[in-house]
Amino acid sequence: MYDLVIIGAGPAGIAAAYEAKKAGLNCVVIEKGLICNTIYNYPVGLTVFSTVNELEIIPGGLKPAREKPTREELLSYYVRFVLENDLNVHTEEFVVDIRSEPSAVAGGLTSFTVSTNIADYSSAKVLVAIGAMDHPRRLNVAGEDLPHVFDHFRETYPWVKKKALVVGGGNSAGEAALFLAQEGAETTLAIFRGDWENTDPKQGCIKYWVKQPLENELKENCLKLFFLGKVIEFREGEAELASETGERVTLPNDVVFVLIGSDADLTMLKNLGVETEQGKYGEVPVYDPETFETNVPGVYVAGHFTHQRHIKGAIDAGRQAVQKLVETRAVETGA
Ligand SMILES: Cc1cc2nc3c(=O)[nH]c(=O)nc-3n(C[C@H](O)[C@H](O)[C@H](O)COP(=O)(O)OP(=O)(O)OC[C@H]3O[C@@H](n4cnc5c(N)ncnc54)[C@H](O)[C@@H]3O)c2cc1C
Repeated sequence: MYDLVIIGAGPAGIAAAYEAKKAGLNCVVIEKGLICNTIYNYPVGLTVFSTVNELEIIPGGLKPAREKPTREELLSYYVRFVLENDLNVHTEEFVVDIRSEPSAVAGGLTSFTVSTNIADYSSAKVLVAIGAMDHPRRLNVAGEDLPHVFDHFRETYPWVKKKALVVGGGNSAGEAALFLAQEGAETTLAIFRGDWENTDPKQGCIKYWVKQPLENELKENCLKLFFLGKVIEFREGEAELASETGERVTLPNDVVFVLIGSDADLTMLKNLGVETEQGKYGEVPVYDPETFETNVPGVYVAGHFTHQRHIKGAIDAGRQAVQKLVETRAVETGA
């Protein structure tokens, strides 16, 4: 019987596991991919936009060569953090179900069974920190499943001297277009004019430090912008788009990146009875902003699939959720 099962070893889950270890909880983290799988999947060589103090779980330890860390430096920091603190993380094991077992513990306390593809875990509390990368959003157009159409961008070198189309209006699309244009792919960024002209840093727009170099690439004719009405179809060798004025255009094309965001998979939580609501960027679980507990007592949430979209918020939430659940547990057990 665990005190706490944490689902997901991203920054939220790792910060929570560290806090649980400090509090002496018997805790396991179950991660379906690798430690910090989301960061592992960032584009190779990406420099993140957050500063060191926003990324560290405890001060010290992250020492990038420049002001901000690269994907590789950040990943190495979190992996070393897990290893050096001997956090109990099971990788490449995915949770398929969480069940409430109300009668399992004497005294009427709720407990949970967390089932994975490998084992069942009994736990007094569950912290769900599954991020929001499970379901990349789709355009739902013909040709989207062709092998040259990708829903994530990994690296640029296979596409040098090829005709690349990036569809999307946020930072991920902007960064992919920049990487591709800078490294010699003939790149078109298909974007709604409103997204291109949006400069509100609080919204999911292309941040200025990506936008400025994109504008330089435009000036030097290394990048083309296409103000999108809608995508019509992807075909082998070409993409058919409608412009913002409705004109149909067929672009010669070798590779497409559809980078229009992604959503969490909330199925497990909903099956458990956790309520959800519409957040700024999609559906989110309903939870107490102080304790991070959902309407199902004993089930906590933290990180990217809640209202916290960034790493700092994910770390703070993971930490705070565990501090609160430790307090609750002490009252419940009279410890
Ligand atoms: C390209 C890119 C660049 C970014 N740059 C920045 C940046 O500079 N600064 C910043 O603050 N944010 C940035 N972000 C956002 C940042 O990655 C997230 O805020 C952060 O990862 C959130 O941490 P998390 O722990 O909540 O979720 P995640 O890091 O997504 O971790 C969730 C984990 O849960 C695992 N998981 C999911 N379902 C299951 C399951 N059923 N069973 C077991 N494990 C499961 C996943 O594999 C994953 O490892 C960026 C995002 C992208 C895509």
